[in-house]
Amino acid sequence: MFTQIKPETRNWKPIIQELEQILGKNGVIRRKEELLTYECDGLPVYRQKPAIVVLPRTTEEVSEIIKLCDRQEIPWVARGAGTGLSGGALPVENCILIVTARMNRILSIDYDNQRIVVQPGVINNWVTQAVSGSGFFYAPDPSSQTVCSIGGNIAENSGGVHCLKYGATTNHVLGLKIVLPDGSIIDTGGIPEMPGYDLTGLFVGSEGTLGLATEITLKILKTPEKICVVLADFTNIENAGSTVTDIIQAGIIPAGLEIMDNLAINIVEEVMNIGCYPRDAEAILLIELDGMPIEVEKNKEKVAEICNKNGARNLTFANDPDTRLKLWKGRKATFGAAGKMSPDYFVQDGVIPRTQLAPVLKQINRLGVEYGYKIVNVFHAGDGNLHPVILFDNNIPGDLEKVEALGGEILKLCVKAGGSISGEHGIGSDKKCYMSDMFTETDLETMQYIRSIFNPKQLANPSKIFPTPRTCGETSNTFKKEQFKDMELF
Ligand SMILES: Cc1cc2nc3c(=O)[nH]c(=O)nc-3n(C[C@H](O)[C@H](O)[C@H](O)COP(=O)(O)OP(=O)(O)OC[C@H]3O[C@@H](n4cnc5c(N)ncnc54)[C@H](O)[C@@H]3O)c2cc1C
Repeated sequence: MFTQIKPETRNWKPIIQELEQILGKNGVIRRKEELLTYECDGLPVYRQKPAIVVLPRTTEEVSEIIKLCDRQEIPWVARGAGTGLSGGALPVENCILIVTARMNRILSIDYDNQRIVVQPGVINNWVTQAVSGSGFFYAPDPSSQTVCSIGGNIAENSGGVHCLKYGATTNHVLGLKIVLPDGSIIDTGGIPEMPGYDLTGLFVGSEGTLGLATEITLKILKTPEKICVVLADFTNIENAGSTVTDIIQAGIIPAGLEIMDNLAINIVEEVMNIGCYPRDAEAILLIELDGMPIEVEKNKEKVAEICNKNGARNLTFANDPDTRLKLWKGRKATFGAAGKMSPDYFVQDGVIPRTQLAPVLKQINRLGVEYGYKIVNVFHAGDGNLHPVILFDNNIPGDLEKVEALGGEILKLCVKAGGSISGEHGIGSDKKCYMSDMFTETDLETMQYIRSIFNPKQLANPSKIFPTPRTCGETSNTFKKEQFKDMELF
């Protein structure tokens, strides 16, 4: 059942002809130099060219492509905008890469029921742009929101600055149309309370291993009446960390609560010239408060009191949209700014309990010194979601391996502190070998079993998420399949 045709024995000619019949000639890319665009995602240290890239526009076209892959046993990988940071959309050898860039239409907006239906290639920011004139917004806002796709967001269960108060992507997806790995199409609903199994919840975060989402129903929210962003600067990062804990303990859930350390502040100021981040601060906190005007005013007072009690040096309040935008622009551009300051960077994405922020940050910086790399720290502090950005030069032989080892140590540190190996960037190809640091073999087998029900031939985004080879799911799957062989599942 898992046998794959050897690459050299496959005759691509009839396959390309069939794909061109489905999509037209300009929907199929196969010239080597054009394929280069698709050989990596936002983690460019790993590269692999696909055999063919296809650009469908409709659910039916996706279904036809996937049926062909199923028949011919060709592995396929879904790709949105390719901004993923864990190698999720990294092609596998001799695969067909299904790119959703042309599936970029907003299909319907229902303001009364606060829903919007989009194709997967719609860019995250377009959703808010489409509804903001009517007083609505779409809450999950990854820093890559001007370029990343909704399809990628649901596959990664992406987070963002506003997910502390409003929840990550999974809390905003009401229903999905999905093409399964045999080409059949299912619809998981589109209303808040669906009976039966929560297939929408199962699919969100599954990183393209259970099927390809072709229509997505999202929840839109009313824009808050008042918004204020507070910038608090600290000469001691531990005090910034304890401020985060104290704000949440006081019962205030800010819309966003982010920390940038001194290196992050300086890199952003150097590259972006924001002009309002204090360059000598050891850390700054950006705290967004939103809601009814009276609520925001009260919370501003309480937050100011907590910041002062924890030794904040200065507090700046931004009430007007332009200043707020400027403050967030720097934070959201930190990875890009790091890319301008260093030939390469490697972003990790671990989670820790927020009470552990200060000690874990110290250990991360100690590891950076030990390994000899600068680490920029910028993170969703309210969620305890760290993003250490390791600066390095991939042209130096052996550097990548050292940086990977350093990244691994940071993830293990997070697990040891009671956290997780991913807050929002997913596991992809990059972090699969750390899955067994977090999950037992039985946990992993159970997940693999679910995968094999949806994806029995392992053609949808193979070799992602689960560790290989010893604790690899394929081995476990086969065992489970034996156990369940009489149940007519396979
Ligand atoms: C500068 C920068 C900042 C970032 N900031 C954040 C942040 O704040 N928060 C955050 O969570 N992430 C962040 N990211 C990571 C990334 O932008 C998100 O993971 C995003 O959701 C990926 O979307 P994409 O369209 O680029 O997906 P891709 O990278 O193309 O794909 C990601 C995964 O989704 C799968 N996939 C894509 N489309 C579909 C589909 N239609 N159906 C099924 N599977 C699909 C792919 O197979 C792959 O596994 C950042 C990245 C960059 C470069």
